[in-house]
Amino acid sequence: MYAEPSFTRIVREPRRRVASFSNVYTSAPEFHASLAMRPVFEEGERYRLRGTYCAANSGMYVFAPDWHVYACWESIGKACSRLGRYNPDGTLALDEAVVRRWFERSVATVPECQRCAYALVCGGGCAQYAEYNHGSPYHPYCDDFQRIFRSTLAHNVTYFLEHGGARPQQIFSAEPTAELLTTARRDFS
Ligand code: SF4
Repeated sequence: MYAEPSFTRIVREPRRRVASFSNVYTSAPEFHASLAMRPVFEEGERYRLRGTYCAANSGMYVFAPDWHVYACWESIGKACSRLGRYNPDGTLALDEAVVRRWFERSVATVPECQRCAYALVCGGGCAQYAEYNHGSPYHPYCDDFQRIFRSTLAHNVTYFLEHGGARPQQIFSAEPTAELLTTARRDFS
């Protein structure tokens, strides 16, 4: 009989299984945080600060098959997030107010982010999810970023202290990932 795994097990177990690989992630915020940290540990570079979360707030135009233009892949098909439309004759009609709404969003224009200690490492979170949750992108979408940043930092520091600065193991082909998935599915079923 199928026994429902506990939430803790669902969260902790995948993390334990991939702990020895530096390029296998169990959540999107962890991926973003870790990707930004690695050059600091591996190359001795400065941490790259960010005022926006992603290209959707800094000038990306997505020309979708529905003849509309969006700032984000996640927004495709959502009327509230259309920057405008393009036409078969090559003409383009953008709604400047919506364009400004997307491209002026940063940690400097979201009040909660202005007061957040993590602002310049987070960037304000996903604007489309802020729109889903609040009807406007001018809200934060934290997505547990503060906790995940701290745990990712602790994980990286521990790894590099234990391994004397040696580069972490990475997976470069699909087979080991498929193997991880297969054993995880078997153990959770
Ligand atoms: S953690 Fe939340 S409040 Fe802080 S910068 Fe990110 S989205 Fe804004």
